[in-house]
Amino acid sequence: MLERKRKLQILSDSAQFDLCDYSADEKQRNVNLPGIYYSSMKGCKVPLFKVLLSNKCYNDCKYCLNCSKREFTRIELEPDELSKVFMDYYEKRYVKGLFLSSATIDDVDNTMEKLVEVVRILRHDKGYDGYIHLKILPGTSKELIKRAMELSNRVSINIETATADGLSALSSTKDYKIDIIRRMKWIKKIHDKNPDLTPSGQSTQFIVGAVEETDQEILKRISWLYDKLNIKRTYFSSFQALDGTPLEDKPEPDPRRSIRLYQADALVKSYNFKLSEFEFNEGFLDLEMDPKYVAALKSDLFPLNINTATYDELIRVPGIGPISAKRIISKRRKSRINSLDELKGMGVWVKRAGKFLYIDGYQSNLDNFQ
Ligand code: SF4
Repeated sequence: MLERKRKLQILSDSAQFDLCDYSADEKQRNVNLPGIYYSSMKGCKVPLFKVLLSNKCYNDCKYCLNCSKREFTRIELEPDELSKVFMDYYEKRYVKGLFLSSATIDDVDNTMEKLVEVVRILRHDKGYDGYIHLKILPGTSKELIKRAMELSNRVSINIETATADGLSALSSTKDYKIDIIRRMKWIKKIHDKNPDLTPSGQSTQFIVGAVEETDQEILKRISWLYDKLNIKRTYFSSFQALDGTPLEDKPEPDPRRSIRLYQADALVKSYNFKLSEFEFNEGFLDLEMDPKYVAALKSDLFPLNINTATYDELIRVPGIGPISAKRIISKRRKSRINSLDELKGMGVWVKRAGKFLYIDGYQSNLDNFQ
């Protein structure tokens, strides 16, 4: 019989591939207490208890630590036991929220019932009213999804791949359109009907490099997810060739690929970039330069007059983000912008932006700008 701390260590190690932060969680983990990871929330790092209910899985996702084909210690915590550990961490102020997931133990709904029971105990029996991010297992029934949403701040289903063919190449037990996309649509419908449920909406996660999909295919899917399903956040987990999995010999992707995808994702989500604005080389983003800079180098839009450019044009300039673009527009309502120094004071990365701008007929030459 494994002692609880050891069980928690195994289950929190298994949870590390479910991301709740842009940066590498692993480095920020508190090694003395299993399951504590840091997430970014409104610009702050917040400690969360991130754990799986179980690592027993009947699915056979070829890249996954918990793949049914892999041999290792399989364990499961009872909902009561898990909720007790969480409350202990919470009351001692080690964590400020819960990120709960599980492998699919036997039957999808049986496992999901147990996850929902953990959250029900916390909300109803223990009176916990803090943050809960609950994973919805692919294939979960609509009734259970609704119950999960009634109890959680955020829910998510990992989409894993950009296409149905991609998922079929990785798993023989999960159906992309039925088990994942259909469930994501249900979440949106339930949320649209009652926005008080899961106030933080739904997020999702891709595994990058486990299957031969291009960045272009991934970004096409992401654009669709934001547009049609109102996804709040997308995470990218870089494929790792784990020992004992069917993909243990597959080469891992360049770690910069996920970084470029995060940057492109931000452009789609917050800068309203269209897929046609990105530059791809045989479907892949440039690994050396960020996608906004690459797109700007190829665009006919530049150079822009800083005193007449619209908001949408300004945020396409490398070195200008939404905040500095708003400051520029606000400043222009009062007076013209006459120098690069003024832009620097508004948060513009002038060395980067300069070659894409001109000030009333004068194209800035920033080679000597400090
Ligand atoms: S469903 Fe697939 S990805 Fe999820 S734990 Fe099981 S094997 Fe891993």
